[in-house]
Amino acid sequence: MSTTVFSNDLPHPAPRSSRPEIMAAEIIERLTYRIGKDVQVAKPHDWLTATILVVRDRIIDRWMESTRQAYRTGQKRVYYLSLEFLIGRLMRDAVSNLNLMSEIRDALTSLGVDINVIAGLEPDAALGNGGLGRLAACFMESMATVEVPAYGYGIRYIHGLFRQQMADGWQVELPETWLAHGNPWEFERRESSYEIGYGGSVETVGGYDDAPRYVWKPAERVIAMAYDTPVVGWRGKRVNTLRLWSAQPIDPILLDAFNAGDHIGALRESNKAEALTRVLYPADANPAGQELRLRQEYFFSSASLQDILRRHLQQYPDFTNLHDKVSIQLNDTHPAISIGELMRLLVDVHGMEFEEAWEITRHTFSYTNHTLLPEALESWPVPLFERLLPRHMQLVYAINAKILLEARKEKNFGDSQIRSISLIDESGDRRVRMGNLAFIGSHSVNGVSALHTELMKETVFADLHTLYPTRINNKTNGITPRRWLMQCNPGLTSLIREAIGDKFMDDTDALVELDKFADDKAFQEKFAAVKRANKVALSNLVGSRMGIRLDPSSMFDIQIKRIHEYKRQLLNIVEAVALYDQIRSHPELDWVPRVKLFAGKAAPSYHNAKLIIKLANDVARVINNDPAVRGLLKVVFVPNYNVTLAETMVPAADLSEQISTAGMEASGTGNMKFALNGALTIGTLDGANVEMQEHVGAENIVIFGMTAEEVSNLRAGEYNPREVIEGSRELSQALAAISSGVFSPDDRNRFTGLMDGIYNTDWFLVAADFDAYAKAQRDVDQIWTDTSSWYSKTIRNTARMGWFSSDRTIRQYATEIWRAI
Ligand SMILES: *Cc1c(COP(=O)(O)O)cnc(C)c1O
Repeated sequence: MSTTVFSNDLPHPAPRSSRPEIMAAEIIERLTYRIGKDVQVAKPHDWLTATILVVRDRIIDRWMESTRQAYRTGQKRVYYLSLEFLIGRLMRDAVSNLNLMSEIRDALTSLGVDINVIAGLEPDAALGNGGLGRLAACFMESMATVEVPAYGYGIRYIHGLFRQQMADGWQVELPETWLAHGNPWEFERRESSYEIGYGGSVETVGGYDDAPRYVWKPAERVIAMAYDTPVVGWRGKRVNTLRLWSAQPIDPILLDAFNAGDHIGALRESNKAEALTRVLYPADANPAGQELRLRQEYFFSSASLQDILRRHLQQYPDFTNLHDKVSIQLNDTHPAISIGELMRLLVDVHGMEFEEAWEITRHTFSYTNHTLLPEALESWPVPLFERLLPRHMQLVYAINAKILLEARKEKNFGDSQIRSISLIDESGDRRVRMGNLAFIGSHSVNGVSALHTELMKETVFADLHTLYPTRINNKTNGITPRRWLMQCNPGLTSLIREAIGDKFMDDTDALVELDKFADDKAFQEKFAAVKRANKVALSNLVGSRMGIRLDPSSMFDIQIKRIHEYKRQLLNIVEAVALYDQIRSHPELDWVPRVKLFAGKAAPSYHNAKLIIKLANDVARVINNDPAVRGLLKVVFVPNYNVTLAETMVPAADLSEQISTAGMEASGTGNMKFALNGALTIGTLDGANVEMQEHVGAENIVIFGMTAEEVSNLRAGEYNPREVIEGSRELSQALAAISSGVFSPDDRNRFTGLMDGIYNTDWFLVAADFDAYAKAQRDVDQIWTDTSSWYSKTIRNTARMGWFSSDRTIRQYATEIWRAI
């Protein structure tokens, strides 16, 4: 194999020292010569930047070695394409994975700087909406940890997900400015730039003897420029690259126009190009149907594919072995246009035959499906697709013709099956179906939990599954135990190390050794003390940010996730209202003191989700100020949910709410974070909850409500929510109170429509599951009352959640899909 890229034998710099006094001197050096600040006047932000630069140097040596190694060994490279990376803060992650935490702390202490203060200033990189983006971030860390040579590809949004503020209980969206102080983690790669085209026409060249060749002549072009962020694996073994693309104009300024006096017009092209990567679409389960979104998807897909092919040609003479050396994982359908783009590049630019290009393409791509919600399956109007990507439209038709013909001939598909597998939805205005394109253009299509994978086979992809019966497979999601245990919960981590040693830090399956301490009273007390300290920390945050005092001896009952009707925050709020009523009506009973905490953002255009946030706040105000409650119930909505907030809330939870309508949550990963950190789960048999029950044991999780099958039967039959509501006194009183304005005296009809939704259709089955949920909550109270039983269950949760490490998930992807380790 060719080694031209690294053929010269220039010496590499000596590895950087990890001695605190040397790092302290380097921090001063960076502060002075890189940031240009006198030590005397340096601001905390300057200290943070200088510290990151010093940490970054420790990463670079390993980063370059990882890159060299991939060339040397000729190992397959994995490319993870995702429109979202919800990475959060990076410093603690990098420092602790390099095993430098105490050294950096000592270095900073010697300079009179508190690491916690500067670490708290690091912006939370929120380049994603929720679970899908956080999964991509956990996967990046795990790919480095299990030593897969991998690149993440995405978009460097100037404004990540909006910052959420509350105004009188309503969500207000403010722009997130995570780059305001610069980003010392990233490296701008001006040399890695590619042209991305849009619009224009396709010309045919070649005579009648030759097979025709097609040349796309785009009408518009922008430049994609790379920014690289190193991703350090656990113990620094490997460092991979997260490459994010930023849009730049071809002509930064039209000088003729400027000189002619049109100062604004002269910059129009430039502004238009930059607008492409300015904002992350705050959509969650429903797609933003805007043209700009399709432009973003093609922009980062095309840049990534061009980059992948360039890297391949540095090492190999042609693309005949592309699928042996490259695996491209599509995180949902957002990058599915990459399939068309690879075909275009291979056929039009590199002159490969269509059939050969198709075989290589299909063996290179694999696709992860994240949702079955019909409104979330991406599709684009044919006229828009054709106008923006005319050559890709031709290729889509060509692929479709080939596949439909094969299906008719080889599998005897009839008209209705053909309609369902077609890349073009002909049922209304014609649309290009990105889910079908991703499925047909991949050799592997995976779901993200066992249940979700089975439902995929039965619902959205039933006919494609018949056509390609071995393509669908399952890879249950996971979370990185570095961030979601060791970093966010140092107290619990120390306690576990004391009890069972350090093995779990390299292999989370070893957590199971904690099982034998589950009934040990002395261990239970220590476990409880850690939980209490985490609850005190959260109480302090809530106290200082919101002025609400919490009692850390109450049960902390937490539901944090995007606000969505299927996730059923509404079920939780209605139960809080019912409980409030009970506490006031029955002062003679022993109520378990509870704090119900919520956090989460609603998509700005999602009316009901925003109303649910307002309801939580309205209910909180009434309950928290009613002396008849005697402190037995509090409701708190903590603003601006993000990764950083999750890192404080997850370790403080006694009870984890995972109560989606069964069949609607593909996996969930929040559920895993809580259980790993010693919370009891109350949940439906949905997503990965099903497998969590298998792992932690049915006696250590509180499951309630309808199954996915029951939900689907109920919806297909004649469900009458009004009847159900009338049959439940607690439920009917709670709904009536909310509907009639008890919690919104300033606008009595504010929630009438929201409640009518439950009375009339109840699509998300809040009413149908209410009684089972309320009963399950009283079961939780019972367990809480027996402290020893509570901790024995929660310790067993921590002990048995090791399988949900994203290292396990990534090993499965790497061996079963990518064949890369
Ligand atoms: C883990 C996580 C999610 C996903 O939570 P679910 O409960 O699985 O929906 C979303 N947002 C953030 C910030 C997270 O850390």
